[in-house]
Amino acid sequence: MARDYYGILGVDRQATDQEIKRAYRKLAREYHPDVNPDEAAQAKFKDISAAYEVLSDPEKRRMVDLGGDPLAGAGGGGAGAGFGGFGGGLGDVFEAFFGGGGGATRGPRGRVQPGADSLLRTKLTLEECATGVTKTVTVDTAVLCDLCHGGGTNGDSKPVRCETCHGAGEVQSVQRSFLGQVMTSRPCPTCHGAGEVIPDPCRKCGGDGRVRSRRDITVKVPAGVAGGMRIRLASQGEVGPGGGPAGDLYVEVVEQQHEIFVRDGDDLHCTIRVPMVDAALGTTVSVSTILDGDKQIDVEAGTQPGSETVLRGHGMPKLRSGVRGDLHAHLEVVVPPRLDHKEAKVLKEFRGLRGENAEVVTSGSSNSGGLFSRLRDAFSR
Ligand SMILES: [Zn+2]
Ligand SMILES: [Zn+2]
Repeated sequence: MARDYYGILGVDRQATDQEIKRAYRKLAREYHPDVNPDEAAQAKFKDISAAYEVLSDPEKRRMVDLGGDPLAGAGGGGAGAGFGGFGGGLGDVFEAFFGGGGGATRGPRGRVQPGADSLLRTKLTLEECATGVTKTVTVDTAVLCDLCHGGGTNGDSKPVRCETCHGAGEVQSVQRSFLGQVMTSRPCPTCHGAGEVIPDPCRKCGGDGRVRSRRDITVKVPAGVAGGMRIRLASQGEVGPGGGPAGDLYVEVVEQQHEIFVRDGDDLHCTIRVPMVDAALGTTVSVSTILDGDKQIDVEAGTQPGSETVLRGHGMPKLRSGVRGDLHAHLEVVVPPRLDHKEAKVLKEFRGLRGENAEVVTSGSSNSGGLFSRLRDAFSR
């Protein structure tokens, strides 16, 4: 027969989650074994914990509401099945009161642990980012000890049970709290939670099962990578304590500044200085590109300062697709800061031919050299 979980907590069937929690806390304070050690109270506390386990879980609660018992068949004892002494019960209480933090795993965690990931950085030129490259990097990580093969023991010696925690991996202490005296657990200081110690440790690794080692690894960097991207090399990271499985190695790309090009995603930008007269008459400039050799860029006659020429498809390749971005050449028109006598004479002659004067530009002017029209162009782009 299904147990009356609502009755155990003394709440009605419409009780909210908050009301259920409140009822459980109130009863737990009263019946917790640390507060109330007699047998009847312990049995009652088991029931309370089971009821809370069921009613605080929407799925289980739904089963109860449909007339079922989610704990039936779970070994009869329900939530209390693992409740020997203070073990499982405390976790439940602390979860209810402190939101999970206290519900750490119980028992020894074992000597063998998975290893950590490891990160290193490698500098790449823009060309290497564009073409992809195979790089050799030097890695410094923990590796499996080749003397004990991770076992950590010397020769045929064996690990033994830790005497401090008697193999439990944790030690308990009594603290005062609003529940009265509460038993808390922390990892054993002698075995650090492993539950066992190595009396005769490996002479090479001191019992850790791993040693530090430097080695060279080749990394295939695909075309199109950019600064900050990471390449993952599975199981090339740190070997774990006790020779545990290695974490991953991440190689992060650091992109070096290029002497000509500035990268913006898949696009490249460069600046070309165009002498005033070339801007007026037009010319071509040769640009040595990253992937396409020398490219001629046409500077049209009448090129204005700040204008831009775009070479479609001559930027960086997109990672994995190979589709190329664009190359933007920004044309910076340069006025000679000084003129000799002859040059000045020619330009004065030119001025006479043009018959132009410096003038204030009206804001509606379509003169493309004007600040307003440039701002307008920028906004309408
Ligand atoms: Zn060793
Ligand atoms: Zn211990």
